[in-house]
Amino acid sequence: MLNPANQERLSKIKPRGTTVTDEQKRLRARLINQQKNLDLLNLENPRRLKRVLERQELNELLEEVGVKRFGVTEISKEEVFLVSESDRFVNSKVIVLVTKQDYSRMNSAPSLESATEILHAYAEAGDKTLKLTSKLKSLGYDVWGHHPLGDRFDNHFLLFSPLAYKAGLGEKGRTGLFIDFKFGSLVRLSAISINAEIEIDQPIDRGISAFCARCKYCVGNCPVSAITNRDYPFPLQVIPSVDYKIDFDRCFKYFEKHFACSLCTVKCVLNQPTVDEIEKRVKRIENWYTNWVLPTLTIKSEQNGIQVDVISD
Ligand code: SF4
Ligand code: SF4
Repeated sequence: MLNPANQERLSKIKPRGTTVTDEQKRLRARLINQQKNLDLLNLENPRRLKRVLERQELNELLEEVGVKRFGVTEISKEEVFLVSESDRFVNSKVIVLVTKQDYSRMNSAPSLESATEILHAYAEAGDKTLKLTSKLKSLGYDVWGHHPLGDRFDNHFLLFSPLAYKAGLGEKGRTGLFIDFKFGSLVRLSAISINAEIEIDQPIDRGISAFCARCKYCVGNCPVSAITNRDYPFPLQVIPSVDYKIDFDRCFKYFEKHFACSLCTVKCVLNQPTVDEIEKRVKRIENWYTNWVLPTLTIKSEQNGIQVDVISD
């Protein structure tokens, strides 16, 4: 996870080329507008307060605003970015939204085209977040919309990735980034926290983090060797608790001068052109994990007990 200083650096950068074209200027203006509108909306108090949101009703609302992939979980202290904001968000439920980036436009990364597509995905995620926040407010729910780029003062209140794992949407990859079970690694996240009773989803371990311990394909594709090549020799079943981290300083120096880089996500093997192909690969990994990895570990565990070697980069 990024510490507050790195988060601030990341939120302030303007990757080279991102204000060059008219399309990018339009997208930037759209993003700033979304942030302003969301900030105003967040300060509004609902006129009547509704305390229960049925999943069926939520599904329909999400469909209305064009969200194809989402999960619901509860916020704990670890997922609140600013400790001073813990009281406001801890124990609230949160709806995490996943927006897919366009593979064909990202495939040229790092480039002007991929940098534009990143802005485009942020704008799409921002639109959905704004629309859903507005809908839920108008229905009487106490909600707070979290724009994918933070508020207009660059404040980020929630850590989206760990919330997305907890909501059963995917797992953490060797790149330190979230990998969605359906859309793969080329995604952007946003969220709406809500103070209401609502059925939550559970985290799922389908073996992606365990697979990343072996795969390493992204490692060789990082131009500045920011992704660790280390082996993870401890029992695979503890891998989901491992905090994969990259060398942020190396990444950052390249990232800010090269169109927000993104090579590691574009080259990830769980990021191929179609959703069907990603699903097939995730299914294959899950079969390997369920049929070959987990049974071996159970036997070892019964015989010797598991020695947990916790790795922290
Ligand atoms: S964004 Fe680029 S520099 Fe950063 S880790 Fe990924 S490939 Fe490396
Ligand atoms: S390329 Fe392989 S190791 Fe890297 S994030 Fe993707 S699946 Fe994991």
